[in-house]
Amino acid sequence: MADASSVDEQPMTAWKPTTCMRCAVGCGLKQRADGDGIEARGNTAHPTNSGADCQRGIEETVSPNGRRLTEPLVRRGGELQPTDWDTAIGVVATRFIEALRRAPGNIAVLGSGQQTNEAAYALGKLARGGFGTPHYDANTGLCMASAVTAYDRAFGGNAPPPTYDDIPEAETHLIWGANPATAHPVLYNWIANSANDDDSQLLVVDPVESKTAREADRHIQPEPGTDLALVRAVMAGIIDSNGVDTAFIESETTGYERMVESLPDVECAAETAGVSLEAVETLSEAVADPTLIYWGMGVNQSVQGTATARGLIDLCLASGNLGPGTGPFSLTGQANSMGNRVCSSKETWPGHQPFDDSDVRKAVATTWEVPFSRLPTDRGAGFVKIVDRIARGEIDACWTVATNPAAGMPDAGHVKSVLDDVFLVVQDSFYSETVECADVVLPAATWGETEGTNMNMERRVSRVTAATDPPAKVKQDLDIIATIGNRIEPDLFGEPPIDPEGVFDEIRELTAGTPADISGISYGRLDDELAVRWPAPDDESEGGYQYYNDGEWQFDTESGQAAFSAVSHSGLAEPVDESYPLTLTTGRQAGIYNTGVRSQSTERDGLPTARMHSETIANWLSAFDRGRTVITSRRGDVTVTVETDDGIPPGIVWLPIHNAAVNTLTLPTVDPESDEPNYKQCAVALSAPTSSNPSTETNSQGESVDD
Ligand code: SF4
Repeated sequence: MADASSVDEQPMTAWKPTTCMRCAVGCGLKQRADGDGIEARGNTAHPTNSGADCQRGIEETVSPNGRRLTEPLVRRGGELQPTDWDTAIGVVATRFIEALRRAPGNIAVLGSGQQTNEAAYALGKLARGGFGTPHYDANTGLCMASAVTAYDRAFGGNAPPPTYDDIPEAETHLIWGANPATAHPVLYNWIANSANDDDSQLLVVDPVESKTAREADRHIQPEPGTDLALVRAVMAGIIDSNGVDTAFIESETTGYERMVESLPDVECAAETAGVSLEAVETLSEAVADPTLIYWGMGVNQSVQGTATARGLIDLCLASGNLGPGTGPFSLTGQANSMGNRVCSSKETWPGHQPFDDSDVRKAVATTWEVPFSRLPTDRGAGFVKIVDRIARGEIDACWTVATNPAAGMPDAGHVKSVLDDVFLVVQDSFYSETVECADVVLPAATWGETEGTNMNMERRVSRVTAATDPPAKVKQDLDIIATIGNRIEPDLFGEPPIDPEGVFDEIRELTAGTPADISGISYGRLDDELAVRWPAPDDESEGGYQYYNDGEWQFDTESGQAAFSAVSHSGLAEPVDESYPLTLTTGRQAGIYNTGVRSQSTERDGLPTARMHSETIANWLSAFDRGRTVITSRRGDVTVTVETDDGIPPGIVWLPIHNAAVNTLTLPTVDPESDEPNYKQCAVALSAPTSSNPSTETNSQGESVDD
């Protein structure tokens, strides 16, 4: 392993268009190799961002300081040791073939929204068509599953209705459980600019005072895990204030009466959420104006994530906020989460086609030239249930690609011990906690070295291009997947090196006529137009507002109408009690991404910094020793440094998601509809550091935190 700076020097090249893959805003960049590495900046010609970019996007993209994986490794005598590619692939193929002989589908595949569409599609093709495994998820189960399940139930589709074009048109921007000022800076600027117009406003619902909340016109702070109670209170408030769009409800929706009957008493619901009636009224009145409701992981990552996302969609349906300039708009985290769902990950076939449709399965099997009977009928589960099945001995091998479950999953200590015990193949560009568990490590090319495409959160496809070659012993994701695939099922792929354009054309063919039709988007068209939004069934068309055509609504539900939901708040996943009397919640910091393997910042490796209200610290003084304390949940404990922050309500402890230790504490209980875990709320206690939780460890960080 070596630092990223060891990449061979390359001569200066011409500027080339590409796409940032640090978040799902999907900014178009232009890049060139400048002799020592890559230089990049916002591309003024790109239709997504017109030249805008952000510091994290550029710095982490062009100057990753993570520990680069530069050669294949195999575990011998308990240690990971360098090897050659033939040996590494030989070990992987032998063990995978043995696993499949023991039982069909006996391999778990955990992918990521960090891959190009082409690599994600190839991995799905191998997982489903080569291994026949139901145990495949490309990160949706940790990120967007609740939102897309909600869209599917409400609209019969898998994507948000609005696009970025709708942001300037809205007058109320309601951001719920998200912090785009930190997580999606370019998108946030568009929201803030629109909210700064006369008669426009920005409201934020978040238990803690995030950067976005600080800049809002109004910040409302529910208790962690009570979002659905507040959503339903707001719905009742809309009805009380005659803010209902009766004509739209009657002509375009089903389930309204049932939803109304299910509503709680407003005062009780507000009390459950820990907010005032005035706050409920403010939200109810705000959506009377053209409104976009954005939400993020604070909604999705909950045992009631799907129900809460549906409740937000219900607010839009009831208040007439569906249509251009308005609507429900989930904020996607990973850069290509949308793409890996279109390419077939959890629960759908390419083009968002239904998993249980035998005609679809036959068409997919024919295109892939694999037996129809091999394609799984079980739609599988998210990361948490897949790891549970590995722990129960139901799966013999696991392959992770560009993901770090040993640090990024809830109850990470348990996850790490499970991954330690299974035959584990890790394909990645940078060293991670999951690499520490691996039996075989396959080093992959990263951004700037890879050709392909990306799909942002508003359905835009855009090219990702290579400015430099990867280090000598590093291979392209596509070539690694194809090499392993061809050992399992000869000719599943061509002979590497695989041409990404050929793979993209296969995806186009399979999505033709589907809800996520990208058949009209070719590499040639992307060279000319830089980015095109689906559905694009021919080479001139481009998608706009979803489910809406020429003034007509077209929902792909059984009734053809949008569906209201009728679920109420059902209590916290892990309430506080005498043993664990405080609530833990987590969030992002500026300048760092997910588990931080690419940035390898000091915050990732040092002790995490917990933020707490001065009152919490005063109440727990005996638990602090020289600015440190130990946070304990039912799953583990973590020593932290502490920063006083009165933007965190008393009784709540806030930790950054990026530190590898933090998910030792979080709760793996999942949403029954989406399988997404309840990351954002669990019960914890504080205690003073002891010899087993020392307060004297060196903490290399110390910068102030900013979520
Ligand atoms: S907003 Fe996201 S996609 Fe755009 S430059 Fe920043 S990190 Fe990259």
